[in-house]
Amino acid sequence: MVDPDCLFCKIVKGEVPAEIIRAGERTVAFRDINPQAPTHVLVIPRDHHPDAASAAVHDSGLLDEVVREAHEVAVAEGVAEAGYRIVFNTGVAGGQTVFHLHAHLLGGRGLDWPPG
Ligand code: 5GP
Ligand code: ZN
Repeated sequence: MVDPDCLFCKIVKGEVPAEIIRAGERTVAFRDINPQAPTHVLVIPRDHHPDAASAAVHDSGLLDEVVREAHEVAVAEGVAEAGYRIVFNTGVAGGQTVFHLHAHLLGGRGLDWPPG
């Protein structure tokens, strides 16, 4: 399941460079190009799914893996104990700009609520 026009599929294939910090059998984690916190990492599945809800319907268990990987990144980055945020922006009004499922892992500073 690959979309040839998808930016994150290209990162998975190595066609677009990224600072990959963790690679699993089904997931890849890399630093966001425009970080919004001291730790801002994107965790994506290797397979193309447009968003989290679609992945939940079509690939049971995949989101568990994405969240597990995000937690492992938080541990490795030293932000797990203080706390962090996992965000799945979904759809245009939800702030989604890349339509390949990704978990934002944000940490390393106090995170306001509600978000903007
Ligand atoms: P969204 O707005 O879809 O929830 O998040 C997309 C994220 O991808 C944004 O935070 C944006 O900074 C990041 N991004 C967009 N293009 C690239 C890229 O080429 N490389 C990396 N590492 N991150 C990107
Ligand atoms: Zn994709």
